[in-house]
Amino acid sequence: MSDGRTLAREFLEQQRLLGGNTVILSVGPAAGSTPGSRPGSVTPPGSSAGLTPGASPLTPGASPGRTLASAANALPPAGVSYDPPSGDLFSTDPIAQAVSLEAIAQLVATCTKCRLCEGRRHAVPGEGPPDARLVVVGEGPGRVEDETGRPFVGPAGELLTKILAAIDLPRERVFICNVVKCRPPENRLPQFDEIAACVPYLFHQIELLKPQVILAMGGTAAQTLLNTKQSLGALRNQVHRFRGIPVIVTYHPAALLRNPNWKKPTWDDVRIARRLIA
Ligand code: URA
Ligand code: SF4
Repeated sequence: MSDGRTLAREFLEQQRLLGGNTVILSVGPAAGSTPGSRPGSVTPPGSSAGLTPGASPLTPGASPGRTLASAANALPPAGVSYDPPSGDLFSTDPIAQAVSLEAIAQLVATCTKCRLCEGRRHAVPGEGPPDARLVVVGEGPGRVEDETGRPFVGPAGELLTKILAAIDLPRERVFICNVVKCRPPENRLPQFDEIAACVPYLFHQIELLKPQVILAMGGTAAQTLLNTKQSLGALRNQVHRFRGIPVIVTYHPAALLRNPNWKKPTWDDVRIARRLIA
């Protein structure tokens, strides 16, 4: 993918998938459209979607076509702050003692702390590099995840992969995991006691990762990370904190597949998350 046109086409396709406005390319050769360079003349039809393909759409000041730059740069207000205690040094709890993500994954693989262990084929601890700047948290494994032991690899996962690519963060550079590590039967909501049993794994993963931002996808992830019963709608568009780490709340990609109207607000949310990453 070296040529600017290919980059532009992929970028515009991502915009379309995420519910962005239609973008009309101006006629004639554009400044900077020589082979190998960035195409420079994508002109939005009187909209705020003036983004320059190839450039990070999220870097403030990086897109000359942006018309509402100042509005887009304002971060949403502060929201909920949750500071659960972390395991102390003298704890004998094996989760608190785990020194690496691999060690946590090993504990998860054989965990029987809740009834969800009974129906699983594979536990799904999560995956991604230990230096990931972004952690994405979903609800729990679905069918394909249970079959493969990997997070977000079914239809919702394919959409998540596209969303991450659209904010210039290939999924290989993101740590992706869930609140519960084993699949609930028929993809039902995880129950309160199952979440309570499983959440020490998630909290310790975050403690080891120390990401710059957490993206909570869906109500279960948001309510668990922020220890609140507030609805997803009420929690969106604020910068919350989990042990001081910014948390952005957005729709779950499975919900986006059912309701494409939520793609645009999701795109707004992930752009906010992206701006919080150095
Ligand atoms: N939905 C989730 O919440 N997590 C996955 O891993 C897959 C689908
Ligand atoms: Fe253990 Fe979590 Fe699986 Fe329950 S869902 S068995 S707590 S890993």
